[in-house]
Amino acid sequence: MKLEERVSLGRFTTIGTGGPARAFARVESVAELEDALRFAAEGGFAVATVGLGSNLLVADEGFDGLVLKLAGHLTVTEVSGDVLAAGGGAANAVCLHRARAAGLGGFEFACAIPGTTGGGVWMNAGAYGSDFAAVLERALVVGARGAEWRTPGELGLRYRHSDLGHGDVVARVELRLKPRPVDEIKAIVADLQAQRKAAQPTNKRTYGSVFKNPDHELTAGRMLEACGLRGHRIGGAQISPRHANFIENADNARSADAIALMAEARRRAHEQYGVVLEHEVQFLGPLELPHLGG
Ligand SMILES: Cc1cc2nc3c(=O)[nH]c(=O)nc-3n(C[C@H](O)[C@H](O)[C@H](O)COP(=O)(O)OP(=O)(O)OC[C@H]3O[C@@H](n4cnc5c(N)ncnc54)[C@H](O)[C@@H]3O)c2cc1C
Repeated sequence: MKLEERVSLGRFTTIGTGGPARAFARVESVAELEDALRFAAEGGFAVATVGLGSNLLVADEGFDGLVLKLAGHLTVTEVSGDVLAAGGGAANAVCLHRARAAGLGGFEFACAIPGTTGGGVWMNAGAYGSDFAAVLERALVVGARGAEWRTPGELGLRYRHSDLGHGDVVARVELRLKPRPVDEIKAIVADLQAQRKAAQPTNKRTYGSVFKNPDHELTAGRMLEACGLRGHRIGGAQISPRHANFIENADNARSADAIALMAEARRRAHEQYGVVLEHEVQFLGPLELPHLGG
């Protein structure tokens, strides 16, 4: 394991903002991961893992800890029967390709989710009526207690949530899929991608959904649209003119610009609908949204 210092994290996120990590390491095996976690524990470092940074906002000041990026063996995928095994650093797109080649369906929903399997488990990422919890047989989690396999129930997976904490690293997953003709998989994926293209910004720098959908008849996007926020801009960040639950890096945005937009969006949703929106995007470093009164 090679440690690097003050590596800028902006280039590891899809929004492209954020400062450096105090320390950064690519880990290529479970043994290296365990070494890195031991090093962090001994040095008193906080730990976080980055996947493809597709639901991640890093503070402009950076993260005062060790950031891990899974590589090598921790990105490998293989199929055995109807189980797809993949490293926690494997991209969903690669897993989907592998599953399709093996004639295994059930993971098509992930064609819309530009992350890794580890990030997918952490977030219980999902789309079009399915999510990781629906296909995950078990995940190998490496943390302070060592390495252990956990089921979706043990991971506490629910809507865009797991009980994992920073320092718990998803090193490997096993997805149980079902036999499906390759042409059927291709057709499902093409249909989902067309739906996505019609509704959301697909060629902009964003971090996906900003807020979770609230317990309300309106989705977060519709609510923010009704609050008049489409296209609203602060600094270099703007609420997508296409879909109000997306923030785009329109022009050299800083994470502080995105936070200011999120604070304004929460304030308006609270004022107009009495709803407290909860952020879906994950924060790394000293980032926080102001409390709402009432
Ligand atoms: C255009 C676009 C569309 C999107 N559409 C969807 C969608 O339809 N549905 C959906 O659910 N999400 C969507 N997202 C959000 C995002 O793709 C998912 O949340 C994805 O699962 C994040 O994976 P990641 O590897 O990029 O994780 P990151 O963004 O890198 O990290 C997210 C969180 O997971 C943690 N993490 C990452 N890897 C690991 C690991 N191996 N072990 C432990 N913790 C880890 C990070 O520390 C962080 O807290 C979209 C994003 C974009 C940009």
